[in-house]
Amino acid sequence: MSGGATPVFRFAPSPNGRLHLGHAYSALLNEDMARRLGGRLLLRIEDIDPVRSRPELVAGIFSDIDWLGIAFEAPVRRQSEHMAEYRHALEGLAGRGLAYPCFCSRGQIAAMVAADAPRDPDGGPLYPGTCRALSGEEAARRRAAGEPHAWRLDMARALAQAPGPHAYTAFDAEGGERRLSADPARWGDPVIGRRDVPTSYHLAVVLDDAAQGVSHVVRGQDLEAATDLHVLLQELLGLASPAYHHHALLRGPDGEKLAKSKGSESLADLRARGASAADLRARLGFS
Ligand code: GLU
Repeated sequence: MSGGATPVFRFAPSPNGRLHLGHAYSALLNEDMARRLGGRLLLRIEDIDPVRSRPELVAGIFSDIDWLGIAFEAPVRRQSEHMAEYRHALEGLAGRGLAYPCFCSRGQIAAMVAADAPRDPDGGPLYPGTCRALSGEEAARRRAAGEPHAWRLDMARALAQAPGPHAYTAFDAEGGERRLSADPARWGDPVIGRRDVPTSYHLAVVLDDAAQGVSHVVRGQDLEAATDLHVLLQELLGLASPAYHHHALLRGPDGEKLAKSKGSESLADLRARGASAADLRARLGFS
């Protein structure tokens, strides 16, 4: 990070469900840390998923944030409006031989790998590399025939170009910093372009953090392992690397992390039951 520059923070929810307490915590922690460090506060809507991202969920994010009383700067960046930029970066990586088309479906991959095969940090099977071995002619023929395909990073080639050692800066609430080492190889050959859109979460997040000049990323511990891959992508793409703070996840009474998929209480539900934003801030430890 460049000394003296104004820090830039961002909250980057995906409109795949209603925001819940965990999102509120993350947004309020961004606000709190930005205030402490004299930083700016940006909002980004991570709506790359054309099916799950619904307009009413985007509208819900804005109304939840208004209710919480967090003042994000305008304009709000929406990932769905930047597909051409993602495509450009993806094609650049492919053109350098660092990404290849993968025609395997999830089901095919599951059938190919043994139950005890190595897994990525999110628990998915590491891709066995089948399509990495396709000849350029065969891949081109299958693409030309319209066969659906994702794009995977060729980790071995990527690491040959950017051998590391890889590391990133982690910061704490007091602004203290330390370097943490990163091991991108544990992601195998990850998808960086999905079948339906020319990006994946990983590619879009590093491009957008750079495009928005983000210097400080505050997000949940569930994304800590992904940072190992993000620093590699930043290096390959010549992007600055922000500092990171991965906060503990809020847990429900059952000890499970709060996840919208498990139907945990949404901010809209809490609000409908009469909770005030001040109650919620106090409950989450913010004033
Ligand atoms: N969009 C991601 C989510 O809602 C967060 C991405 C990030 O903070 O890097 O889980």
